Amino acid sequence: MTDKKVRVRFAPSPTGGLHLGGVRTVLFNYMFAKKNGGDFVLRIEDTDQTRYVEGAEQYILDCLKWCGLHADESPEVGGPYAPYRQSERKPLYREYAERLVMEGHAYYAFDTAEELDKNRKEIPNFQYGQAYRQTLRNSLSLPQHEVDELLAAGTPHVIRIKMPEGETISFNDMIRGFVSFETGLVDDKVLLKADGMPTYHLAVVVDDYLMKITHAFRGEEWLPSAPVHLLLWEYLGWKADMPQWAHLPLILKPDGHGKLSKRDGARLGFPVYAMNWFDAKTGELTPGFRELGFLPEAFINLLATLGWNDGTDQELFTLDELIEKFSIERVNKSGAKFDFEKAKWFNAEWIKKSEAGSLKPEVSKVLADKGIVIDDEEYLERVISLVKERCVLIPDFYQQGGFFFEQPKEYDLNAVKPKWTDAKTEFFNTYIAQLSTETSTDAHELEAKFKALAEEKGLKIGDVMLPFRVMLVGGKFGPHVFDIVVLLGKEETISRIEKALVEFTAA
Ligand code: GLU
Repeated sequence: MTDKKVRVRFAPSPTGGLHLGGVRTVLFNYMFAKKNGGDFVLRIEDTDQTRYVEGAEQYILDCLKWCGLHADESPEVGGPYAPYRQSERKPLYREYAERLVMEGHAYYAFDTAEELDKNRKEIPNFQYGQAYRQTLRNSLSLPQHEVDELLAAGTPHVIRIKMPEGETISFNDMIRGFVSFETGLVDDKVLLKADGMPTYHLAVVVDDYLMKITHAFRGEEWLPSAPVHLLLWEYLGWKADMPQWAHLPLILKPDGHGKLSKRDGARLGFPVYAMNWFDAKTGELTPGFRELGFLPEAFINLLATLGWNDGTDQELFTLDELIEKFSIERVNKSGAKFDFEKAKWFNAEWIKKSEAGSLKPEVSKVLADKGIVIDDEEYLERVISLVKERCVLIPDFYQQGGFFFEQPKEYDLNAVKPKWTDAKTEFFNTYIAQLSTETSTDAHELEAKFKALAEEKGLKIGDVMLPFRVMLVGGKFGPHVFDIVVLLGKEETISRIEKALVEFTAA
């Protein structure tokens, strides 16, 4: 590594929601930068106006915030290399494109969209490149005076890179090692469009250079673009400053066959986006991990393990630990299978690990959605502590803990009614009387007394414990029965027994 300050970037195009692979790209950049005391830059690559989607940039900013991956420089916080939105940098790219033309590495192309379409239809595997460029309308094929006239007349044109013939270009990828390409296989990509906007290829190189990016992690799908970028770095005379590339392996479908797509999520019933994404054009809502009830800590943790491990059996890491332990040598070259069951395991573990107090805002929201208004924060915290072991997703707090705030609306009568006896009715009536004068609030003590009463009445403990649970919570679930009693309090417990007895004994 050089002694330059490490600077990485995440450079999304605001074209829609953020796939979990995108957030993993942010995370790897972030871990690397922070591990090396560097800066993380967020740059919005919005030069393709046809793919621009309203709201997508804000969505990306919100995702990063939710994940706790804060950019040191971005369109939002600014920074020394502002603006960080490429559309606002439009005027600066032309100079570089023109320079490439002047030096013979790029050329003007005047072909109209119709002409190109015709070629694509008539010539199988048509590429605008060395095989056909001489037959098309550009500054390499046309006489100079004609080119001058076309330019002077303001004829719409693009600038294309002139891919060299028969060269092999290579670089050392931080993850994949030595990678090489044959230039002849790559077409002459457009660098500057007719509207004066740069394409991704030109803008990414110019901005990585101007923003002094030293390292760049990005998805493997960008590897085919690398030869164009390498040549641009070279032709613009910046090769010594080129960032070190790291192309992250793909995130694969659960069966390992192919890249995990948005469609796979819909098909298999799990989210693929970080947060809910609503497409105003199609009216389609793509579900996100956040809204399903994932904690950001769990989301980050699981993404870090998609393609990386620390070499031990440890699986749970805080973001600080990830930063401390991250090493590029331990990033896998092969694709990482996405396993939703494992993702949920991470979330369950993180819910367990989290302080009850820190879960309060999210749990309150879930309860509020069900019409439960919290007026006692301390009570809520005690409920969370008691049930968090049993929750996999945040909405599970309603299922596992809603009964602490409202009496059961329904009972699992199948679990109790068939075996109900008068002796049980009698037992619970006696228990109500005993409880009404009870002074202990110790779960063990209460349990011992309940058991003693059952014994005295000649009942098996299981025969009354299960009905007691159903009386309190409505079904065969929930934490330890006497922990529930302690939290509900004596009056509420009695009221629930009374109410349930009516149902259990009804004909
Ligand atoms: N704008 C590209 C994207 O949408 C960035 C790719 C890169 O990191 O070079 O992902």
